[in-house]
Amino acid sequence: MKSKNKKQGVKKPKKAVNKLKAIKKPKATKKKPKEVTKKKMEPVLPTDLTQNQLNILVSYVAGEFGIEVTKHIVEGKENVSEFLIAEKMELSINEVRQILYRLQEQNLIHSTRKKDKKKGWYIYYWTFNFVEVKSLIKKLKENRVNMLKKRLELEDSNEFYTCKRKCIRMKYPDALEINFLCPECNVVMSLIDNKKQISVIQKELSILEQQMENQEMAEA
Ligand SMILES: [Zn+2]
Repeated sequence: MKSKNKKQGVKKPKKAVNKLKAIKKPKATKKKPKEVTKKKMEPVLPTDLTQNQLNILVSYVAGEFGIEVTKHIVEGKENVSEFLIAEKMELSINEVRQILYRLQEQNLIHSTRKKDKKKGWYIYYWTFNFVEVKSLIKKLKENRVNMLKKRLELEDSNEFYTCKRKCIRMKYPDALEINFLCPECNVVMSLIDNKKQISVIQKELSILEQQMENQEMAEA
C-alpha cells in the first residue's frame, strides 16, 4: 500500500509540472527576444572603439572563440563567471579557461575569485579591461609596421628569381649557385618583377602610419 501511494504521489505532481511548463514556455520565449535585443542595443563599448576593431584584436589574441568569450564578458559588464561563459558557449570549462588565459596574458581581462563552498574549488569572475585595448592595438600596429618595413627593405634591395610554376622564390646569389634551375621542377628561373608586392607593402604601411598618427593627435 505504502509504495503504491508513493508512486502515485510522485507521478501526479510531475505531470502537473510538465503541463504548467508546456503552458508557460511559449509565453516566456515570446517575451525574451525583445529583452535580449534591447540589451544588445545598449552601448557597451567605449565611443572610440568599434565592435570590428575589438573583434580583430581579440581574435588575434585568442582566436575566433575569443570574440564570443569577450562578448559575454563585455555584455555582463563585470565579474562574469567562467562557468556561465562555458554554459552559454556549450564548451567545457577547460576550453573556456584556455581562451581566458590568452586574453589575460595580454591584460585584456582581469579576474576575482571566490571559493565554491559546496564543491571546494575556486570560480573565477572576469571583467574586460578597456584601458588595455588601446595600448595593445598600438603595440600590435607597431609590430606590424616594423615587420612591413623589414619586408620592404628586403624587396627593395634584392632581386628574386622563380620558375613559371612559382615553386620557390630565391634571392639572386642562391639562384646563381644552382645555375637558375628550379630545385623543385628543374625549369629555368627568371627575374621576378616585385613592383606589385612593393606597392602592396607600401600601401599597408602608409595606412597604418596614418592611423597611428591620427591616434597620437587624438591623444595629444
Ligand atoms: Zn619550379
